Amino acid sequence: MEKIRVEDLTFSYDKETNAVEHVSFSIEEGSYTTIIGHNGSGKSTIAKLLIGLLDKDQGHIYVDQDELSIDTLYDIRDKVGIVFQNPDNQFIGATVADDIAFGLENHQVGTEKMQPIIERFAQKVKMTEYMQSEPTKLSGGQKQRVAIAGVLAMSPQILIFDESTSMLDPQGKAEINELIQEIHKESNITIISITHD
Ligand code: ADP
Ligand code: MG
Repeated sequence: MEKIRVEDLTFSYDKETNAVEHVSFSIEEGSYTTIIGHNGSGKSTIAKLLIGLLDKDQGHIYVDQDELSIDTLYDIRDKVGIVFQNPDNQFIGATVADDIAFGLENHQVGTEKMQPIIERFAQKVKMTEYMQSEPTKLSGGQKQRVAIAGVLAMSPQILIFDESTSMLDPQGKAEINELIQEIHKESNITIISITHD
């Protein structure tokens, strides 16, 4: 089944040059898709258009056959989790547990309900022993694992990794890639991995 369809997507930041120009693609549910392009080629812009952080100038974006618009934006955003490039930009909480809980708290999930979810995903990303640690003191790879646990806790149907390993050392890169592969194998989440290499 088709999960995402993008038709003739065009967007310009300055109304002079197009950052994204006539882009079309289709992504199957549960698939693993890589978007590859050099720096500045418009990959992050596509990701931001997909989650409605930017508004297209032209074209159409469909998720589960629903066209992304002001009316469907919040329903579609609920289905999509995104992990960004810089592990230092995704922390708000004082502890790892707080960070994994952040999205759930925003969705007003009760504390008792939240606890098992947090534990389950901390375990998934192998961060249970760091639950009370300060996120800022973790390695880059550990930070990205916490970020991944936080988005997984929101039960996304689509996961976008926007160069999520590009700032990590080789070990961190390997860890995160392995984790992404594992998530893909074990779930029906549609994965989009953005990379320049
Ligand atoms: P990538 O993620 O592939 O490196 P981006 O989508 O970030 O590329 O950028 C695509 C183009 O849009 C680049 O030319 C970049 O300079 C420009 N751009 C990105 N973000 C902004 C912004 N906030 N304001 C103006 N121009 C931007
Ligand atoms: Mg980018």
